[in-house]
Amino acid sequence: MRLIKCILTANDCYKAGRTITPKGVMVHSTGANNPLVARYVQPLEGQSEEAKLKEQIGTNRNANDWNNPGLDVCVHAFVGKLADGGVGTVQTLPWNHRGWHAGTGTSGGSANNTHISFEICEDALTDAGYFSKIYQEAVELTAMLCKTYNLDPKADGVVICHCEGYDRGVASNHADVMHWFPKFGKSMDTFRSDVSKAMGTTQVKPQPQPTVPSTTKTYTVAKGDTLSEIAAKYSTTVDTLVQLNGIQNPNLIVVGQVLKLPGAKGFEPYTVKVSVTELRIRSGPGTDTAAQGFIEPGVYTIVEEADGPGAKRWGRLKSGAGWISLDYAEKV
Ligand SMILES: [Zn+2]
Repeated sequence: MRLIKCILTANDCYKAGRTITPKGVMVHSTGANNPLVARYVQPLEGQSEEAKLKEQIGTNRNANDWNNPGLDVCVHAFVGKLADGGVGTVQTLPWNHRGWHAGTGTSGGSANNTHISFEICEDALTDAGYFSKIYQEAVELTAMLCKTYNLDPKADGVVICHCEGYDRGVASNHADVMHWFPKFGKSMDTFRSDVSKAMGTTQVKPQPQPTVPSTTKTYTVAKGDTLSEIAAKYSTTVDTLVQLNGIQNPNLIVVGQVLKLPGAKGFEPYTVKVSVTELRIRSGPGTDTAAQGFIEPGVYTIVEEADGPGAKRWGRLKSGAGWISLDYAEKV
């Protein structure tokens, strides 16, 4: 899977700024013969990496892409042809943003409130080669999203297409994608099953080791202490203490044992304000560590700092949830 990020910040849906707790993924296809993602997705003029994004996605000379105000639609991603002719995915909304893709169904409800959405760019619907590439890309994208949000693709109503959403009363009356998939022997049932298989075989990255910062403090174990209490007292985690001290059995510490404590000398925890909606929580200081969902905008306490790839500086959350890039957090 190729994943490029180009958030449609000028779209009114993005500006509406509402978030959801994703409960599923809704698959759409565009209903127009234009397999190029550039038809729908363009960076804004002057935004960061504009040139690079245009080089990857391609250029839309008609200026009719969705990164404009005045549209009543927006999805979380597009799957289709990129500038080099290959197939890829471009993410267009933060995954937990409330999209405008399903309209309202006969039940009065809407999958906008529950489902992450993506559009597959249609061609003339006769090219088996293009179909097999976008099908595979869509399977991998959906598998990734199901993993991120702990969703079972085979459970009822979790991974559905637009027309299934209509049948369930949570989407407007559209035929996508079942006017297309069966032409090439596929259905939403094969799709769900392929997503499930992809989740099983997708390589799970080994959990990164917690980073062990330079040690300057120690703690001497007293009677009745437990590792989790000591961890809580010093705003660290049991795992960090175990790692730092080479402890074999976390349930066995002895009175008088001297434990090394993490944290650079003189580091004072401080609070930061997070105002963006798409800031990831990571298991360690760096974009090469496991993603653990997104942090809600708000005020948080940082108890440790470290350098790592993907940001100038990373901060560990007191809550124990993980690390965030401090590039997007404002000290308060
Ligand atoms: Zn649709």
